Amino acid sequence: MRKTAPRHDSDPRPEPSAGAPEHRTSGNKQDLPWLLNEITQQSPIGIAVIDADGFFRNVNAAYGNLYGYTERELIGRSFTIVFAPENRQHILTRHTAFLSGKSDMAGEFEVVCRDGSSKTIISNSVRLESTSGGAPMRLVYVVDITERKLAERKLESARAFTQSVLDGLSAQVCVIDARGIIVAVNRAWRVFNRANGGERFDLNEGANYLEVCRHFNVAGTPDIASSPEFLAGLKAVMAADLTTFEFEYPCHRLAEQRWFIVRIARLVASDPPRIVLSHYNITSVKRLQQELAGRESLLADLAASIPGAMFRSVKPPGAQAQFSFVSAGIEDLIGLTPQAIYARKELAFDQILDEDRAEYDDKIRIATLLQSEWRHEFRVKGQDDAIKWLSAQAQARIGDDGSLTWTGIILDITARKKAEAALSASEARYRTLFETVPQGVIYHDKSMRISSANSAAQRILGLTLEQLQGRQSIDPRWKSIREDGSDFPGTEHPAMVAARTLKPVSDVVMGVAVPDRGFAWLKINAIPLLEAGELNEVYATFEDITAQVLLTHELRAKATTDELTRLANRRTLFERLAIEYERVQRNPSLRCCLLAIDIDHFKQVNDTWGHAAGDVVLKHVAQTMKQQTRRIDIAARIGGEEFIILLPDTSVENAQALAERIRASVENTRVSSGDHQIAVTISIGLSTINPDDRNDQVALERADLALYEAKHSGRNRVKLDPLLAGDQAQA
Ligand code: GH3
Ligand code: MG
Ligand code: MG
Repeated sequence: MRKTAPRHDSDPRPEPSAGAPEHRTSGNKQDLPWLLNEITQQSPIGIAVIDADGFFRNVNAAYGNLYGYTERELIGRSFTIVFAPENRQHILTRHTAFLSGKSDMAGEFEVVCRDGSSKTIISNSVRLESTSGGAPMRLVYVVDITERKLAERKLESARAFTQSVLDGLSAQVCVIDARGIIVAVNRAWRVFNRANGGERFDLNEGANYLEVCRHFNVAGTPDIASSPEFLAGLKAVMAADLTTFEFEYPCHRLAEQRWFIVRIARLVASDPPRIVLSHYNITSVKRLQQELAGRESLLADLAASIPGAMFRSVKPPGAQAQFSFVSAGIEDLIGLTPQAIYARKELAFDQILDEDRAEYDDKIRIATLLQSEWRHEFRVKGQDDAIKWLSAQAQARIGDDGSLTWTGIILDITARKKAEAALSASEARYRTLFETVPQGVIYHDKSMRISSANSAAQRILGLTLEQLQGRQSIDPRWKSIREDGSDFPGTEHPAMVAARTLKPVSDVVMGVAVPDRGFAWLKINAIPLLEAGELNEVYATFEDITAQVLLTHELRAKATTDELTRLANRRTLFERLAIEYERVQRNPSLRCCLLAIDIDHFKQVNDTWGHAAGDVVLKHVAQTMKQQTRRIDIAARIGGEEFIILLPDTSVENAQALAERIRASVENTRVSSGDHQIAVTISIGLSTINPDDRNDQVALERADLALYEAKHSGRNRVKLDPLLAGDQAQA
């Protein structure tokens, strides 16, 4: 140990000794103002002194650097220069209030740099009382936390995405921890449980997953919790012996047979470990495949405070480096008082994690060798065994006696490290989710052009990423329709609506023409992602529900058409007849004609050629009627071989001509059935809906009378009803 304190010859003030504690106490007391001033100047934390009128009296280099000014440019200017013009008056008022003890000035602030960019800072202020009776001044120190804020914002948006994708899934998903306790569930899970007796038990977060399963042992089928195969799979995934495990199981209700698949997966990059269990109902919906879903709330408690300890360390030539000054803040960081630090004969301390120790020593060795800035991040174990990340930054200076001095600060960067780690884990999860969810996911940028689409979206839409990128919803190459077949304008697409209203849009059904596949039916959700209140992106998620929609369409068609001939059925005809009757009542000048048609001697066709041949004839006659009528006409089969054609807005002459054409066409065409050529004829009765008719059935009765007339006068002919026949006779 050196006995004499190192001195700078050019410097009249004594400097505290690097290695002699007995000198340090007295040295600290005397030299503290000077030392602090020097440390302040070199500190990487921005420090400024502002007078009562709001002018900078003193700033250090770090303060200027943070805002992009030199120290000289700032001194003498108003400190409000680093705030946006609209905030300046307010901040000046706060400054004055602070100095008179009426307000504090700590916390986060948005500031504006010289180049116009903005930053987020944490700042705190101390009142400096004047010793000479002058006005007090404010000492402010600031730390740039812009990067940390950015990481937090990105993390928040990634989490919102994850949750909404989860909620958009039709599978019932829950996430459990290593003990099997449910830590997160999605919307479908809640809905399912509510519908299945969930009001009696707590089946959501906090419940034990296997206990929950036991509630679903309903109709005598064993629940999965008692299946050794399932339990083994779950255990294997938990132990990371398997990455995923799928298990199909029945889960019947008294009234309904149901089957499910549960897919178990370990969450990628999750710490603590998380298991995602996705339950798909595969009874009615086809089997959905899902890889991985997960949600995790890992957002750390990013406490905003300025910890940090200023320090100076000195390495005399040929001796170990040691701390010569450490501010009191060190105790908060590592649980050691400055005195305990001074007692050490080296820069390292026991609180540094063993695995970080070698690198810590290396960095100091290199900084010593190069006599350069020392910058290092390392972990320490605090009093309560919590691990903290610290960053040490210090400027090097070589003394005249060859000693090397570092002046700098140690900061707690645990919060930043946590946010970074959570963000990268969350990004990894997000990527997996984006690529593997069975839903299509499409991102639109601010101008509502597609910027990204996952593989499910490409598969469902039948387009590659390259073909999708840059497209807009209003692109004429999309052909989209609503369920009723009407056009779905591009401006009404859920993504466009979400962009316009800045609100999420859910469960919109849309048919999109897919190359070589006809229409794909999609159920679409669109969510706007805002940044600072403004639209930044819109993402749309969609499920392919083509199978269900086609089924619904088919059922609807069955209810309105006759299965053999594909003509309208009796019910449809009567509905339309009622409508046309109404129209004629309201507007008697409208003409609506009715043709009653019956095949002649149809019994004989059946008797001679067989029932199947009769069916072929029926179809043929129906086809002829379809071909001869317009879209607004209704041709219906109302009985075995009896048909009605409703002809809105048609004159009697035109209706008669049409009836004649149909009759002639049937007469002149042979129907092939097997080797036979079958000839048939039809008889037709014509009537009109009359405004004076009692009800909508009367016109039908008259058409029937006319048909009867046609049959009796020899068949294979068209007859008008008695009213019309009378009119014609008069004409
Ligand atoms: P008319 O000229 O007087 O009408 O003589 P018709 O033989 O056609 O007499 P009617 O109208 O009473 O006979 C209808 C026959 O149509 C009775 C039945 O065998 C037959 N039929 C009814 N529905 C069907 C069907 O769906 N398929 C077949 N192949 N025949 C049917
Ligand atoms: Mg008949
Ligand atoms: Mg007949």
